Amino acid sequence: MIPHIRTALPGPKAKALIDRDAIVVSPSYTRSYPLVIERGSGAVVEDVDGNVFLDCTAGIAVNSTGHSHPEVVKAILEQAQRFVHMSGTDFYYEPQVRLAEELAAVAPIDGGVRSFFGNSGTEAVEACIKLSRHSTGRVNIIAFLGAFHGRTMGSLALTASKTIQRRGFGPMMPGVYHAPYPDCYRCPLGLKAENCAAECLEYLEHQLFLHLVSPEEVAAIVVEPIQGEGGYIVAPDQFLERLRELTKSHGILLVADEVQSGMGRTGKMFAIEHTSVRPDMIAIAKGIASGMPLGIAVARAGLMTWPPGAHASTFGGNPVSCAAALATLKLLKERLVANAAEVGSHLMAGLKSLAATHPLIGDVRGRGLMIGVELVRDRRTKERASEERDAAVAAAFARGLLLLGAGKNAIRFSPPLVLTREQADTAVRIFDEALSEVEKTRH
Ligand code: PLP
Repeated sequence: MIPHIRTALPGPKAKALIDRDAIVVSPSYTRSYPLVIERGSGAVVEDVDGNVFLDCTAGIAVNSTGHSHPEVVKAILEQAQRFVHMSGTDFYYEPQVRLAEELAAVAPIDGGVRSFFGNSGTEAVEACIKLSRHSTGRVNIIAFLGAFHGRTMGSLALTASKTIQRRGFGPMMPGVYHAPYPDCYRCPLGLKAENCAAECLEYLEHQLFLHLVSPEEVAAIVVEPIQGEGGYIVAPDQFLERLRELTKSHGILLVADEVQSGMGRTGKMFAIEHTSVRPDMIAIAKGIASGMPLGIAVARAGLMTWPPGAHASTFGGNPVSCAAALATLKLLKERLVANAAEVGSHLMAGLKSLAATHPLIGDVRGRGLMIGVELVRDRRTKERASEERDAAVAAAFARGLLLLGAGKNAIRFSPPLVLTREQADTAVRIFDEALSEVEKTRH
């Protein structure tokens, strides 16, 4: 039976491990609830006390093919038996070249495409920042309020999600400006998608470019097609399309950060493919290798002209990660991107139907299996229900459904892309119960 909760949570073994963790592991991690995993398969996770959970987090949108997909595990084992590391920065090996070829074939970038290999999302973004500066000879970068691009010192300067992520780490890398992101649900002017997008672009064009930075000195605009950590906020198509026109007209590069939204999650290989936009670079990580560390900056070949020595990373493009990525890509193309689209709309419909009976639900949005539910105290004022959000995540956990928050008051559904319709129904049923419990106790 899935899920199946047999002990109080955390159970005794989980509690013992959490107590050890509290002494020796960095306290900077944001654990929402005490899950201690023992094993996983598909969208199901078992903890160390034998409790079984339905996973709608995929380890923060990473386990795209589900936990320990047999074909991914096989690829990892076979590669590990051949060799584990040789540094693709100084030597050559087939899995890295083949993966770059595969990415060149699927990336929605015009012309030839090259890949730079790192280990994480932040490294993919760092590479995009460095390559933008290097290839344009310009220094400034524009990102958006609410964005999350990583936590190393370059990408952190672009991140504008929560102040705790920046507090105590300044000064930030200079040359970074932020513009408003079109959060149409919360548009302060109450505008519809098209006008809300126009309003944000108006700021860029007629405020930022007029008062703060000249567009000829901007190397790149970095944008998440769907803001992830910011709250699963979907940018209107018109916004991305007009952003592309604007960047082209000023010789500015457009970088799509698809670390969270890419690799099939939205029902297309890349979220930007829901629009007609062809970016200059794409940052990829998370879902690309089903849980093995890998971050890739994919760019128009004409831009990647930096000379040997300009940028590299010892572990980047590790052969075992590349083998996992090749197996992942195969599964995504064969079935899982389509499954994300199909089961995603089923899950979306189920979650939307809950709005009729749960006043806490302010908005349900997303694409494919990247769905955010924003909780509010009052639908008219849209007052953010942050505590209720945390309580709902905890209540879902107590019932065996793993969810995570995003932004101040949204809940993200980012399950493995192998999720079935039946599992989606289970998630909706448990979420319904969790919301009822919160509404009963808080109102
Ligand atoms: N960019 C986006 C859109 C992300 O969602 C994240 C992580 O959540 C990152 C970059 C940073 O990725 P990592 O944590 O692998 O460095």
